[in-house]
Amino acid sequence: MRVETGRAMAVKVEIQPMPSCSDCANYTETGKGTGECRMAGPVPADRDKDRCPVRLFVPKRS
Ligand code: SF4
Repeated sequence: MRVETGRAMAVKVEIQPMPSCSDCANYTETGKGTGECRMAGPVPADRDKDRCPVRLFVPKRS
């Protein structure tokens, strides 16, 4: 059974981009779209933190 309340809810959904190597404190940019990780060596800037091979993502301080 479906119950209708007669009210609509406004929900604002903001999609945050997944942090990536370029947002990590272990990352140093070495070229356009590429960098060097202190732990994993050369890495792409846009690698999602969930795909970090060493599982050591540390957010950069802002
Ligand atoms: S520690 Fe992981 S997330 Fe951070 S720069 Fe290295 S590979 Fe990327």
